[in-house]
Amino acid sequence: MPELPDLLHVRDRLRERLLGRSVTGERVREPVVLRFAVRGNLSLLQGRALGDVFRKSHFLVFRFEGLDLAVNPMLAGRFRFATPGEMDERSLAFALAFGADLELRYLDDKAMGKAYLIGTDDWNAIPGLQTGGVDILSTEFTRERFASLLRHRRDQVRVFLLDKKALDSIGNAYADEILFEARIHPKTWCRSLSHDEALRLHDAIVSVMQAAVAEVAQRGEAIEVKVRDFLKVRLKDDCPRCGAKLRTAGVKGMDAYYCPHCQPETRPGFVDFRKTGK
Ligand SMILES: [Zn+2]
Repeated sequence: MPELPDLLHVRDRLRERLLGRSVTGERVREPVVLRFAVRGNLSLLQGRALGDVFRKSHFLVFRFEGLDLAVNPMLAGRFRFATPGEMDERSLAFALAFGADLELRYLDDKAMGKAYLIGTDDWNAIPGLQTGGVDILSTEFTRERFASLLRHRRDQVRVFLLDKKALDSIGNAYADEILFEARIHPKTWCRSLSHDEALRLHDAIVSVMQAAVAEVAQRGEAIEVKVRDFLKVRLKDDCPRCGAKLRTAGVKGMDAYYCPHCQPETRPGFVDFRKTGK
């Protein structure tokens, strides 16, 4: 999935170019990505002005009068600004024209993303939309709030980081970066984290994510480009801190990258809490 820094960058660029402009055309090449919770199809957007673009969990929402187009790009979905008439990309799924000079295209190599056309705020029409997590870039995301979220967890710390109902929101790449920054092994049980480790983890979430948001914004790449080259451990070979070979660990079917030296494994958590029955 696109990560928070990517989504915020794309959202800001979409706002700059598109707010207030009306849809003048629509094309669909890959109907499988589209879902309609209203009667009709994309042509319902014709003539409607774009009032807002915002993020909701890992979706980008295009708000038109009476209708929201909510796009979950999943693994490979990307947006791209194009000139109408420019040759179609092979991965083109659908496009919306905003006047004679500008087309917004949604590209998806894997056609795994989904775009839902729903009535305004009809979020229940979207299966699997997980919301309710605390915005990790907001002032509400304090050390105290984080510690209280953590207290109720009986899972591994990396699974917790990825839970959109708890934290809004962290994906695979930044989960690795955050755990590396906090020097915590990805398979550590939440229950076995010390108070100091919990604080370190909170502070790592804030510092890693804020730095990434600033970096992606500062690069100012086109919205179809995913900026990832500044990551320290994700998909890398060696630890930038100590030089050790990085390892991968399977956590719930996903590969976590970590340094076995900087993020040593801790064992006891799970057994301890079963014994004590907490
Ligand atoms: Zn290391």
